[in-house]
Amino acid sequence: MSSGTKFNFDWPFFGNKHIIDFLQASIHNNKLAHFYIFTGAQDLGKGTLANFFASSLLCRNFSDGKGPLPCGECPSCRHAAKGTHSDVTFLKRPEDKKNISIDQIRDFIKMMNLGSFSGFYKIGIIKEGENLSIEAANALLKTLEEPKPGVVIILHTSMLEWLPGTIASRGQILHFRPVARERIYDYLISQHKVSRDFALDLSSLAKGRPALAAKLFYDKDFFDFHKKTIKYFIQGIQSGLNEKFSLAEELLNSALAGDKETKQGAREIAGDILEIWQTVVRDLILLQFNLEELIINRLAMPELKKINFSLNRLREISEKIKQGREYLAANVSPKLVLENVNLQI
Ligand SMILES: [Zn+2]
Repeated sequence: MSSGTKFNFDWPFFGNKHIIDFLQASIHNNKLAHFYIFTGAQDLGKGTLANFFASSLLCRNFSDGKGPLPCGECPSCRHAAKGTHSDVTFLKRPEDKKNISIDQIRDFIKMMNLGSFSGFYKIGIIKEGENLSIEAANALLKTLEEPKPGVVIILHTSMLEWLPGTIASRGQILHFRPVARERIYDYLISQHKVSRDFALDLSSLAKGRPALAAKLFYDKDFFDFHKKTIKYFIQGIQSGLNEKFSLAEELLNSALAGDKETKQGAREIAGDILEIWQTVVRDLILLQFNLEELIINRLAMPELKKINFSLNRLREISEKIKQGREYLAANVSPKLVLENVNLQI
């Protein structure tokens, strides 16, 4: 940041400094885009950064021209932290729906058009924007073509390629990148006081995503689910069909039964399961090339080393899992997809 600027920032955020610098410079220079697209893999902190950005724009300190931003104390910051700020509107796909619907986007646009209640900015945050239905995307496009002053829309997505090109071309696209494993390792030890050995396991599992590493550390149920998914898969690929089925079913059911608060849908959970399975197959392939240092599922190393499948077999399994993920994306029943993958591997 150049010297002589009036703001300092309090964004406790790790990684993707290029994006932080860019957003903070836009605030300093008062050069805001009307529409930002935050894109990159899940768990890189896109939503968190959108919140820091929004609360900074709405903080009293911003209108007073001083830092830190956000102050965390003014009424605006307190509302923003609770997710109840009247000038911030969130939009996301309902749990039980396939898409963000046209009706949802109409309400969202109505809110945006009302203008700011507090006299500053009106901010709309669209989560997982790839879920916009075609009609919803078209309706949004009209708003993006004629932006009202003070309106800032932030859409985040882990699948930029699923967004209609007409929408993507309207936005200031910011690419979130994975963070190096060594940096996540250091971060876990210095910021979260994780032991060295566990930090090594977690930073490997995190696949470059600091938020995932922290979640694995703090959310014991989530970590246990992760561990179970890895172990069951390793057990499953070495056993008969019946056992495979019961392991997969138990995984899905136990994940669905637990964690009522954040209640993920079966589709998301099945997607997570397949993604984790894919990392195990990747690890097994890497082990064949003696690339132990690149292993993601380091915590299952002894079990992984016992498996002696041919490279061809591993590639086949990988292909079946990939197919399963495609079926899932095409809305085939999650249970059916898992069964089907199991049947073929
Ligand atoms: Zn404030």
